[in-house]
Amino acid sequence: MVVVAQIKLVPDREQFGLLMETLTAMNLACNQISAVAFDNQCFNRIRLHKLTYYAIREDFGLKSQMTIRAIGKVADAYKVKAKKATGPIDTQRTFRLKGAVAFDCRMISFDLSSDSLSILTLEGRQIMKFEVGDNARNLLAFQKGESDLFFRNGHFFLNVSCDIPEPELIDHENVIGVDLGINQLATLSTGESFDGQQTEKVHKKNQAKRAGLQKKKTRSAKRKLKKNSGKEKRFKRDENHKISKRIVDEAKRTGSAIALEDLTGIRRRQRVRKSQRSRFSGWAFHQLRQFIIYKAKLAGVPVFLVPPAYTSQRCHKCGHIEKANRKTQSEFVCCSCGHGDHADKNAALNIAELGCSQSAHGRVVGFIRQ
Ligand SMILES: [Zn+2]
Repeated sequence: MVVVAQIKLVPDREQFGLLMETLTAMNLACNQISAVAFDNQCFNRIRLHKLTYYAIREDFGLKSQMTIRAIGKVADAYKVKAKKATGPIDTQRTFRLKGAVAFDCRMISFDLSSDSLSILTLEGRQIMKFEVGDNARNLLAFQKGESDLFFRNGHFFLNVSCDIPEPELIDHENVIGVDLGINQLATLSTGESFDGQQTEKVHKKNQAKRAGLQKKKTRSAKRKLKKNSGKEKRFKRDENHKISKRIVDEAKRTGSAIALEDLTGIRRRQRVRKSQRSRFSGWAFHQLRQFIIYKAKLAGVPVFLVPPAYTSQRCHKCGHIEKANRKTQSEFVCCSCGHGDHADKNAALNIAELGCSQSAHGRVVGFIRQ
């Protein structure tokens, strides 16, 4: 499985300049290659190479591999359109001068023992330190293929592709159901839950800040707005990493598999109030789900995806399905047997039950209303 490890480069002053020059030159080259591609309506990588390689190397002082990567970036950018197009392509692609560019294994090599790397610049190879978190450091041992160099908030980063071998799946005796929601970001059938209060607080604070900035419409307000949204995104991502890690750790510790709702098409099921839908269909759901699934894979924890129908309306105790069972967003009281529970936990238990059936029968099982 390929995952991305992010590292922050620590160049000295001169190296910083060289990285900036290299990044800019490669993107300038991309713009020129794009112009040639557009003028000739030629979007095939090999033909584009023949048309541009020597001129680009000379004009921008690029090394051979850099030129090849730049041609690749342009070909990729036109790929989807070129495939679908029936006539000529009518818009020329342009590239931001600080946009990400790919470095392959001939342009970059890592020395994990000293947290340093050697990277190709316009002035040859440069050796520099990098900063990396513990999780990402473990991934780096499996570095394979391309890394993307990009510039953000005054620093250079690399997104390094790592091909992690998937471990054998653990033998599981239990299945932990996980209900993903709004008030509680995740609720487990074990009763443990992860609330979104902290996340919600940050979101509210940022929303207020954004509203103020949006009124201003100045350049600096716009810049702050952009920076602010990036910050919030990273905060949420961090939260999702922590929550998913705790869920997967818990499953591994107890020898359990994980069951999640199969949410293909969730946006059509309007279980969420309008005011909350944007957040719900946005980050909270998809990213957290993705993180749980990939971390489970890495840990050898089996994941069962179960049909979401009636998981929130069904009484886990007696099996009675009725919309009115769910009194409020958080309160579940069965109209038939009177059983009461937190609504999210009740749903998580239903999800776990479906996961168990799937595990036992080897096929997808869902709830049906009688
Ligand atoms: Zn009941």
